[in-house]
Amino acid sequence: MKILDGKRALVTGGSRGIGAGIAKALAAEGASVVITYERSEEKAQQVVREIEEAGGKAIAIAADSADPAAVKNSVEQTVAALGGLDILVNNAGIGRSGMIADIKLEDLDAMLNVNIRGVVLTSQAAIPHLGQGGRIVNIGSCLGERVGWGGVTVYSMTKAALNIFSRGLSRELGPMGITVNTVQPGPTDTDMNPADGPAADGMRKVMSLGHYGTVEDIAAAVVFLAGPSGRQITGTAITVDGGLNA
Ligand code: NDP
Repeated sequence: MKILDGKRALVTGGSRGIGAGIAKALAAEGASVVITYERSEEKAQQVVREIEEAGGKAIAIAADSADPAAVKNSVEQTVAALGGLDILVNNAGIGRSGMIADIKLEDLDAMLNVNIRGVVLTSQAAIPHLGQGGRIVNIGSCLGERVGWGGVTVYSMTKAALNIFSRGLSRELGPMGITVNTVQPGPTDTDMNPADGPAADGMRKVMSLGHYGTVEDIAAAVVFLAGPSGRQITGTAITVDGGLNA
């Protein structure tokens, strides 16, 4: 018996990085999983194959989180394919850096639309399908609480918004037995923030542990919240940042 046997999960942005790690970890604990992606069809199918080879069930759906119709459709497709929904992980996110004076309108809109509006709309579409014991986990960032350097102001603002979104939504969904939390990664080795990238040494210097996290580190916190261990945890944030915000 696995802790998520019979559970049905939707993970946005599951073709690569943290989302792929979360999808695999949920499936390894018995959940059936749908992942969405924007462009990486082949990588998404590879995640599906890996989950199936490990004995799990997974489906990939192309859905741009910035497109309201695609978001609604992806939730409907998920519910139809899995026969319902128990766990929503709002993971899809983008980072565009630049000092505030230089941020382009298209970058501002892209971050607001994917990192905030997409999360609100995905949740709105998913909530009617979640019942007692349902879970929403939003992937924020340690930058949503403390910002240690310039050039990431707008991105950090979008992640701070998720922190408060989770807290507010926990009030609305608590009476239905649904928990809502944020997991706030710190530097985690992915395409977005490679451990051998130009900014990596600077980040390691300000982390208590001095090394990047892995996607499995973030996925472990999501599984913890999604499973029975998370039943009394709602309206809060778990930061998995190697002590960057300490
Ligand atoms: P990656 O860039 O490595 O992967 C992003 C994933 O999100 C991909 O699957 C991508 O799909 C998907 N995605 C991006 N834009 C969209 C969109 N418009 N619609 C649907 N899917 C989309 O990022 P990470 O794995 O590093 O980040 C995952 C989450 O964790 C993000 O919310 C990020 O902000 C957060 N985070 C990451 C940290 C890090 O150090 N890595 C630190 C703190 C927070 P596709 O492959 O099709 O492009």
